[in-house]
Amino acid sequence: MRTESATAATTRRYRPRSGAREGRPPLRATSRAVFPVVVAAVIVLGFAIAELVLQGRSAHELGGIVALLAAAIVAEAFPVPIEGVAAGRTSLATIFIVGAAVEYGWAPAAIVGFGTMLTVELGSRRGPDRIAYNASLYTLAGGAAGVAAALSSGNGLAATAAAAVLGSTTFYLVDIVLLTWVITQSRSQPFVPWFRRAVVSTAAPFAVMTSLTVILVVLWSRSPFVAVALVGPLVVIALYQRRVHRVLESLRELDRLKNEFIAVVSHELRTPITSVYGAAVTLEQTKLDAERRESLLGVIYRESARLVRLVDQVLWASRVETARIEPNIQACDAEELAAAVVKAAQTYLPANLSVDLRTQESLPPVAADPEKANQVLVNLVENAVKYSPNGGRIEVDITRVDGYVRFAVSDEGLGIPEEDRDRIFDKFQRLDPELARGIGGTGLGLFICRELVAQMDGSIMVAPREGGGSMFTFDLPVA
Ligand code: ADP
Repeated sequence: MRTESATAATTRRYRPRSGAREGRPPLRATSRAVFPVVVAAVIVLGFAIAELVLQGRSAHELGGIVALLAAAIVAEAFPVPIEGVAAGRTSLATIFIVGAAVEYGWAPAAIVGFGTMLTVELGSRRGPDRIAYNASLYTLAGGAAGVAAALSSGNGLAATAAAAVLGSTTFYLVDIVLLTWVITQSRSQPFVPWFRRAVVSTAAPFAVMTSLTVILVVLWSRSPFVAVALVGPLVVIALYQRRVHRVLESLRELDRLKNEFIAVVSHELRTPITSVYGAAVTLEQTKLDAERRESLLGVIYRESARLVRLVDQVLWASRVETARIEPNIQACDAEELAAAVVKAAQTYLPANLSVDLRTQESLPPVAADPEKANQVLVNLVENAVKYSPNGGRIEVDITRVDGYVRFAVSDEGLGIPEEDRDRIFDKFQRLDPELARGIGGTGLGLFICRELVAQMDGSIMVAPREGGGSMFTFDLPVA
């Protein structure tokens, strides 16, 4: 059995084969553990090869051993993530190595163990110390499993099943003891607590592996060809587990983003509420001249509008996903639509920013829901303003591109790194979730834009603007 933990910081640490993946220690630190294990494995392997040659196995037996070796290599190369197992991905190779131990004895099992790990580790281009240790570990575990399985004599079903359980348990124990040993040696840590933790985290895959091994050897003892029937369900289980794991990983990521979103929205709600409250209290408690009153009422008006926009965004984002709102498509004048958005933007622009509209001559009408197209354009222009903290020019360009009308909003602002250009259209995604630059937002605006544009059979994308900043474009079909 092989398990790898999901912990990320493992590049320079050892990776155990069964137990939490613990990374790889430098060779010198582990040589006290590596050296005796490798020497023991070389001796066992030497005797195993001699036994195989001297005993003169039949072609039928050799075919079975090679088949189990091939199955073990495939299983080791494609470990299966088992949900709920903290240790991570589990390789099903144990089943076939212990199968070899029960059916053909300790020598073929040691050779199958060695061949499996050597092939997979060489294929993964591991370092020589790790290849040597892991291949030795599987050699010793395979050999030991064969010796243990031989303790159960007889050909009956119960004896075969007992041999499989003994073999599987021994393989597991040798595997986990040697792994814990190398890890604790390299970290100068006590053996027992580490061993206990490794057993707890791998108990579930061990139980699964043992029962599968029993099924394999019972079928194999009837006929190796019948055992082939196991391949189908095993592959299905492996693929299913991988899929479930992938889905759960993405759900976890979404959950994390939602938590981040709640934190950001709380912050975003708090700021305007504080301003509105402060302005209202001042208005109520103090006698003010007309100019000051006017200015405070302006604060209340602007901040309330900001609150409404924020709440609208959250409502939109949940509606856009849960219910498909049919767009009210009609022929619209693209220039008129953009002109209204640009004019509105000019009323709230900071002094160091400008917004201009450029349009092509004789643009065709566009097939769009005017309210939704307006919402998308407003969002893009607002973003261009928001993410241009040092000012600059914002341009809205409308051109015809084949069967589409293209709306482009370019700014000279912060720009978007290439690797983030796709993800910013996903829900809750912000490039600056910590608000390090002090620019608030929910990460919902572009998600809503993408959904709305898709509802109108268009597409949206972002590209860098020459000379810095970014350019968001969306295409809508010509009416
Ligand atoms: P937000 O409410 O955070 O603005 P959006 O979905 O509108 O959410 O945008 C997602 C992220 O994309 C923003 O947090 C920001 O990091 C980045 N972004 C959007 N528009 C621009 C832009 N014009 N320039 C630079 N970055 C932008």
